[in-house]
Amino acid sequence: MLIKRGIAVSPGVIAGPALVLGSEDFRIPNHFVSVDAVETEVGRFRTALDAVARELGDNEQLAGEQLGKQYAQIFAAHLEMARDPGLSSEVENLIRKRCYSPEFASSYVLGRRAKVLQNLDNHFLRERAADVFDLKKRILSHLLGERREELAHLTAPVIVLAHNLTPGETARLNRDSNHFVLGFATEVGGPTSHTAIIAGALEIPAVVGLGNFLSDVSGGETVIIDGNHGEVIIDPDEETLARFRDSEARFRTVVERLESLYTLESKSRDGTRIFLMGNIEFPEEVDHCTQRGADGIGLYRTEFLYLQTRREPTEKDHYNAYRRVVAAFPDKPVVIRTLDLGADKVAPFYGRRTRDPEPGSVLGLRSIRLSLKNLPLFKTQLRAILRAAVEGDVRVMFPLISSLMELRHARMVLSDVMEDLEEQGIPFKRDIQVGMMVEVPAAVVLADDFAREVDFFSIGTNDLIQYTLAVDRSDPAVASLYSSGDPAILRLLRSVVEAGRRHDVAVTVCGQMSSEPIYLPLLVGLGLRQLSVTPHALPELKEVLRNITIEHAEQIAAHALTLELARDVESFLRGELRRMCPDLVL
Ligand code: PEP
Ligand code: MG
Repeated sequence: MLIKRGIAVSPGVIAGPALVLGSEDFRIPNHFVSVDAVETEVGRFRTALDAVARELGDNEQLAGEQLGKQYAQIFAAHLEMARDPGLSSEVENLIRKRCYSPEFASSYVLGRRAKVLQNLDNHFLRERAADVFDLKKRILSHLLGERREELAHLTAPVIVLAHNLTPGETARLNRDSNHFVLGFATEVGGPTSHTAIIAGALEIPAVVGLGNFLSDVSGGETVIIDGNHGEVIIDPDEETLARFRDSEARFRTVVERLESLYTLESKSRDGTRIFLMGNIEFPEEVDHCTQRGADGIGLYRTEFLYLQTRREPTEKDHYNAYRRVVAAFPDKPVVIRTLDLGADKVAPFYGRRTRDPEPGSVLGLRSIRLSLKNLPLFKTQLRAILRAAVEGDVRVMFPLISSLMELRHARMVLSDVMEDLEEQGIPFKRDIQVGMMVEVPAAVVLADDFAREVDFFSIGTNDLIQYTLAVDRSDPAVASLYSSGDPAILRLLRSVVEAGRRHDVAVTVCGQMSSEPIYLPLLVGLGLRQLSVTPHALPELKEVLRNITIEHAEQIAAHALTLELARDVESFLRGELRRMCPDLVL
């Protein structure tokens, strides 16, 4: 049994067989073989190993002829490993003595060897672990041959384990696997990475940022994912499995109890209405929002239209997606955010056209900057938004605005698109509300200036924290420095709320912070009356609201603002929540 701790990013507790997604997506179908078949299986292993050795020999020769001696040496080293008599006797022993299948035995032996190398102090030797993984893949590829399985061929539920999943890959998990993915865990990833956000949208338990653990898993073992506490248990013993069943049942009880809140309005104990809207990435998620009584859509991350397909979406694709969302909320606000591509969100087709600028770092050409450099792409989307807006209370929002110039440029493109639609006689909404994300510290500093030029602000704490504290939101190595409770963040929030009040501009928080129950009293106490949250968080947030008065929330915010350290803010808020809603702290 192996217990790993990481970052909990999507709640729920689940157990199932592991599917290790390597770069080649191998799944080991059988761990054991019958006693009678042992010698045949040993033969199968030897045939595979011989084939690998021949392949490596050929590669060595080819690389030597075409690339030079130093490249040939890479394959020579792999060949030496493949011919190591210690390797074959260890694998064959496991097949004979423990009836392991050759796939499982070779994965087990080579996985262990890689692990030993990975744990060494010597940098050079550590890097050799990659060679061992490479050999493992080659052997598995020969053993599994046509039986190599990928996500698309799943026929039973699995738990996906991977080094990394991009937001696009995560978005496609369900579709590619026919909904057979029960949960997932990754070695990398940060608390508000987009992969984490998508996990929440898929509503499957997930843990990220676990560090190296894949070398300890061969595939097929039972894995428990505890998305509430950020724990992953591989090969659990009986006692742990019993504990898992217990916490799964407790979690289900809380979720079922909260279902009674679905149809209730979200308001504080003293009756003040707090509007809770939903954050969505895919149009289908509107059903989760309507079912749980959301007050509209406060953030529609439209870039996922790009991340899910292999071709560039057309105006019609945009329009159809937006209409689906508006149809679910014909009388409530639907805030459509324009493309926030770039950084970790890269479309599969992106970069194929020579005109496309390279996507890159979080400080690079992403989001509104990218849209403004790609006007045809941007205009296509704006046309669809303006057209869909005829059917409801649609509002448009620009992400990552960092200067007035940028905002004005985006607004000018919007006006141009309106003119085009006008000329073409296509119905659209001219008086659409225009808002901006406040997610760059510069936007907070200049909030009074921005407030004169927009109808609403939506605070994106995910990026605001990243840029204010200089902590990459996707990097688990600095996850402990990434805190919504940081005093600097609290003051920035207060400052935006005050600017909004001065200019009568509505302010929402749509970053992950607003989906976390511990921050809700603080946000309400700071004066926020509308929030946009992950749909699965709606019921528990309603529950918190129903247990707090505005006066109490204001006291909590006032006290939190006097604290000097993020960890003091967090533990104070956690203590307050525990007192108000003891059942919620799972
Ligand atoms: C944010 O940055 O807080 C936000 C809501 O946008 P995203 O998470 O999509 O970057
Ligand atoms: Mg953002």
